[in-house]
Amino acid sequence: VGDCAQNNVFFQAVQEVISSIAPLLNSDERYAKYSVLERLMVPDRVIKFKVSWLDDNNSIRVNTGYRVQFNNTLGPYKGGLRFHPSVNEGVLKFLAFEQILKNSLTGLPIGGGKGGSDFDPKGKSDFEIMKFCSAFMTELHKYIGPRIDVPAGDIGVGAREIGYLFGEYKKITSSYDGVLTGKPYMFGGSLMRPEATGYGVIYFTQKMLELEGKEGLEGKICAVSGAGNVALHAIEKLLQIGAIPVTCSDSRGMIYDPRGVDLPLLKELKFEKRASLELYLETHTDAKYTPVCDYPEGEHGVWGVECYAAFPCATQNELNEADAKNLIENRCVSVSEGANMPSTPEAIASLVNHNVCFAPAKAANAGGVVVSEFEMSQNASMQRWHFEKIDVKLRFIMEQICKRVVLTAKDYGVEGNYVDGANIAGFKRVADAMIAEGI
Ligand code: NDP
Repeated sequence: VGDCAQNNVFFQAVQEVISSIAPLLNSDERYAKYSVLERLMVPDRVIKFKVSWLDDNNSIRVNTGYRVQFNNTLGPYKGGLRFHPSVNEGVLKFLAFEQILKNSLTGLPIGGGKGGSDFDPKGKSDFEIMKFCSAFMTELHKYIGPRIDVPAGDIGVGAREIGYLFGEYKKITSSYDGVLTGKPYMFGGSLMRPEATGYGVIYFTQKMLELEGKEGLEGKICAVSGAGNVALHAIEKLLQIGAIPVTCSDSRGMIYDPRGVDLPLLKELKFEKRASLELYLETHTDAKYTPVCDYPEGEHGVWGVECYAAFPCATQNELNEADAKNLIENRCVSVSEGANMPSTPEAIASLVNHNVCFAPAKAANAGGVVVSEFEMSQNASMQRWHFEKIDVKLRFIMEQICKRVVLTAKDYGVEGNYVDGANIAGFKRVADAMIAEGI
């Protein structure tokens, strides 16, 4: 199992699934007979490798690279690459495990995987990023392929990094394969891939609120955490539909702008300058910046803001029980997870017990992998789809996922519980396929 502390997040993810799927396991003895749960909890393989690269001072630096190929029952391994100092085997196993069920929920032919490195892109020059990506691909290329494993981006890996990784893959293999998704549009990327996860979270939430008989997001105050790809595109869609997103955050602090955040400025700060959010105040003196060190003890600043809907879009375990209490006291109606596992189990229990509509990551943030699969389809058929076509298909699939989760929860006696509904529906499709494929 590897180092125990490292595996805590993995155990957290597995535990949540196990506690959800009891009604399914009890309903059909085949799941026990074929040991599906035991088989699903162990990755097909964990690849770990050394990445040596030269920094700008011509010093050799060494990082660790990983690819967790967890389960390919439904299709090629699919899941992002994360470059962040916190990356280790346990984190990637948790993410890959979640990815299996998420990909299953989409109904598309994709399995689950995840990878990355403990490399920290912060403070690195463009050439250093390029050299690291080349070195990383020197090893990774042995294990991936358009029908084998198709990585994408995640924290610290955006279009720039995917571009460098793809360039190196092409150089090594002399093959122009759709082996990575999230590529820049000019060489095989899909329109709407950057927007997909953030937009998808909002599409899911709109459907959930409709099905639960709640008012829509139009004109409503929303709290968003994060200031990366997922957060800023969730904010973009919220603004498009007339909601008022008043917060965002990064690893150093948060912005509260009661009139609604200035998205063009945020994109400039985070996507172009890769700067701290603190600079927002240079042009918006009436907004408030709170550094992490000034957050109330044991809380994350964003969730103390009064809001109708909350969207944690930064990282895992960034919304705890105290944060959930604040949201409940402020009469928040829905929490939708844009990031992977941003809410702690205690926070989820508290929100669900207080009838807050809770959309778990594996359902709500599936939009990214959905459009990644569209990118694979476009690459395989040498076609390019236009923006509207992708947007319509994305919205349709997010709404389908939402309905599937709701119906599954109803069928298995946990009506209204989106966590259980998502876990059961995601698990069932993979489990049935595993049984059909034999050992
Ligand atoms: P980005 O790297 O683009 O952005 C991450 C954001 O979160 C940044 O604003 C970063 O701050 C902030 N952040 C990271 N770590 C912490 C921390 N420990 N505390 C507070 N803030 C933090 O990543 P993405 O937007 O792509 O991913 C965000 C989440 O969404 C992740 O959980 C990812 O797994 C998940 N996800 C992403 C998908 C995608 O399509 N990109 C698809 C599905 C899920 P700073 O700028 O200071 O680094």
